[in-house]
Amino acid sequence: MTEAPEPLLKVCDLRVWFPIRKGVLNRIAGQVRAVDGVSFTILPGETLGLVGESGCGKTTLGRALMGLEKPAGGRIIFNGQDLGALTGQARRQLRRHSQMIFQDPFSSLNPRMTVQELVTEGLVHHRLLQGRTRTESARELLASVGMDGDCLFRYPHEFSGGQRQRISLARALSLQPHFLVCDEPVSALDVSVQAQVINLLLDLRERHGLAYLFISHDLSVVRLMSHRVAVMYLGKIVECGATSDVMETACHPYTRALLSAVPRPGKHQDKRIILTGDLPSPAAPPPGCPFHPRCPQALPVCAQQAPPVRTLDNGHSWACHITPD
Ligand code: SF4
Repeated sequence: MTEAPEPLLKVCDLRVWFPIRKGVLNRIAGQVRAVDGVSFTILPGETLGLVGESGCGKTTLGRALMGLEKPAGGRIIFNGQDLGALTGQARRQLRRHSQMIFQDPFSSLNPRMTVQELVTEGLVHHRLLQGRTRTESARELLASVGMDGDCLFRYPHEFSGGQRQRISLARALSLQPHFLVCDEPVSALDVSVQAQVINLLLDLRERHGLAYLFISHDLSVVRLMSHRVAVMYLGKIVECGATSDVMETACHPYTRALLSAVPRPGKHQDKRIILTGDLPSPAAPPPGCPFHPRCPQALPVCAQQAPPVRTLDNGHSWACHITPD
């Protein structure tokens, strides 16, 4: 029997809470539970798609993995090392191997820096040029994302959205990461450009053995990109499994509602499930199952008790009081 590979990333019971302060004394009056007890793993070279409505905590989770938000609890283990236990140089070295791509590359690229400066900034900072010039390194990085080297001395505003996303990718790849958090990387792009960037991400994954956390509200894109999918609702993962299992035999009522809104060309389309009401505030999550105020299948117990997590032999898991038919 072959041994299962070690996860590249292991997230255990991660919590990211933001305090709500009130009054002249600025006392803490409550907590916004943006990420509330999330656990998952990602293998080397694997893509985990993370889906859910806006405001469910997807971006906060991605930012916490990058060290851009301080967790209130839980552990992030990257390459076998607990990020919370590392400090200084050791933490920076490990962080180098995970990078983030944002939805809007225009706001994540410094408008005053040239393309050459942008894509080689990390190399200079970490002293990784290794005797090569910035121009040589920049040309090579741009070539790896399908751009020619004529644009080295141009600025971000001179490029289209798709080209800017390629520049962001070249910048992220400069530090030879093992893991990328892609936060809605194609949502702001035209459909034809979306396909080009998705193909580039797939190609880079293949060539560099990269692992991705692919955050998106678009289930069709997630289906294309991901080996496994996690569905997030109000700061918690409510269903997780292989993409085909979750997409074909979703077990959680929330996942079923999300999927019913996605057209499936050539396949039987389930009846659209319209969810009523808005996503509740993560500052005051409903008791019991957080989905119960909107769930079309809610039982009385759902308002009182947190649902158990059920897991099948194939690793497909979901949190619900009822078993699907
Ligand atoms: Fe719906 Fe109850 Fe399942 Fe929550 S636990 S998803 S409210 S049926």
